[in-house]
Amino acid sequence: MNENHRVPQWAPRLPKKIIHQLYLNDALGIHDEGLIDDVGYRLLMRCRSFIIANKAVRGKATCPVCSSIIPHHKRKDEFLVCNCGWKLSWGEYFATIQHKQLSGAEPVIMLFMKFVKQFPVSRSYKNKILLIDEVIHGFHWYAKNNTPTRPVAINLIEGRLKDVIDFLDALSYSTKSVSELSQTKRVWDENVKYVRSWVPNDQQSNDKQPRDKKNVKE
Ligand SMILES: [Zn+2]
Repeated sequence: MNENHRVPQWAPRLPKKIIHQLYLNDALGIHDEGLIDDVGYRLLMRCRSFIIANKAVRGKATCPVCSSIIPHHKRKDEFLVCNCGWKLSWGEYFATIQHKQLSGAEPVIMLFMKFVKQFPVSRSYKNKILLIDEVIHGFHWYAKNNTPTRPVAINLIEGRLKDVIDFLDALSYSTKSVSELSQTKRVWDENVKYVRSWVPNDQQSNDKQPRDKKNVKE
């Protein structure tokens, strides 16, 4: 593909099996540095993609060739033109973002930014797993009455919304697990009750889930 018309690439959501393995190992008291870095850096790349995509949708696209920021007016036929020679219509750029679970409001972006900043400078296994645990158990919030709407795991882990919730519900814990994880789990259990109140059991597609401001029981 011509460099001058390259479309942006977004890091994929994570496969469940590596997160499952991380929590299983942790519950067995096995601290696998290779595995935790694999999970952490995949999450970091995904969070970074999410942040860049949201910034683009808000009018500041990132050039996929040189990373310069290109302000735009969100008109589909408008061309994003970079000093490096790259050029693409906003319509084509936006099409790479849609239906990829790359959308969220400010609190989610802040949560992901914290992870992107702190994971690479975390040295101990414990710090790393606490950061991973915090980010995968986060929620989108309905600002009007401050209730959780969707888990952010849908933006980070492969699968339909119900699968991802069931997956996090079933992660392994034991007395050998890093002790703070049980606190995150308690908060998750409380928040996920609201979400389950509207997630249909037969939900067919990630893309058909309610938006944050629609269909949420108040
Ligand atoms: Zn450029």
